[in-house]
Amino acid sequence: MHAQTNADLHCHSTVSDGTLAPEVLAARAKANGVELWALTDHDEVGGQQRAMDAALALGMPYLTGVEISVTFAGKVVHIVGLGFDHRHPSLVDGLRATRQGRGARAREMSDDLAKVGIRGAYEGALKYVGNPELISRTHFARFLVDAGHCSDVSEVFRRYLTEGKPGYVPHRWASLGDTVRWIREAGGVAVIAHPGRYGFTPTEEYALITEFMAHGGRGIEVVTGSHTSADIVQYTGTAQEFNLLASRGSDFHSPQESRIDVGRLPDHLSGQLKPVWTVLEDRIHWPA
Ligand code: AMP
Ligand code: MN
Ligand code: MN
Ligand code: MN
Repeated sequence: MHAQTNADLHCHSTVSDGTLAPEVLAARAKANGVELWALTDHDEVGGQQRAMDAALALGMPYLTGVEISVTFAGKVVHIVGLGFDHRHPSLVDGLRATRQGRGARAREMSDDLAKVGIRGAYEGALKYVGNPELISRTHFARFLVDAGHCSDVSEVFRRYLTEGKPGYVPHRWASLGDTVRWIREAGGVAVIAHPGRYGFTPTEEYALITEFMAHGGRGIEVVTGSHTSADIVQYTGTAQEFNLLASRGSDFHSPQESRIDVGRLPDHLSGQLKPVWTVLEDRIHWPA
């Protein structure tokens, strides 16, 4: 494993808001040339054993993964965990608690959408849900597209489900400190996901990074499906400045919806960075 390794350490299956089952995603990752893979479903490790078994059967090294929703400074931040014990009680119990608010939130989203004439959104979204504990905005977005309210998922997020728009329900997710602690207690490394997406001011971003590191967080995504080339340059600098480990992942959700396929990120990490997988060698599951 080296800087040019085709690592894809961020993607989603039907266990959260992706459209492919863990086994199908594993096969697609392998076919697309992935040399080190992690499935990182939102707030859920229920797909880890399936993903690992499938990856190892295909001869593809595997790291456990998760993407945890965090409320920080009144905004939602995502923290990826890598290389943990997916059965560790701190992590499993913490994630179960953080998933619990999703059902009530979904019903409120549906009530809010009904006020603008969109009926049956809760029941509609449920038809797209693979894991009853993980109903997400993405499932509502798929329902709104297929019911003809919008032409694609990005239009849904522009018109609905985001702050100030119908169907948006503010939610309190896990704290940054708890999240990093769950990952570390389970033996993993915490990574700030897609930092370019938050729209933070430099002051807010500095606060996020320094608090994250004070809790023991060690990594940041530099090359991700949601970064532009300019973001990659910027966060290469950030990783160096703060001495953070660098991660790489497509954030693939679906062949129909995602811009970057699993394993098909065009950029590698700069040779000046320290890839997160270099500190996770003994956490990698190797094929027999
Ligand atoms: P939730 O965790 O229920 O708030 O849903 C968040 C998910 O919605 C993210 O993980 C993305 O998959 C998806 N999402 C958020 N914003 C957008 C967007 N602008 N376009 C497409 N998908 C989005
Ligand atoms: Mn998602
Ligand atoms: Mn995310
Ligand atoms: Mn993601």
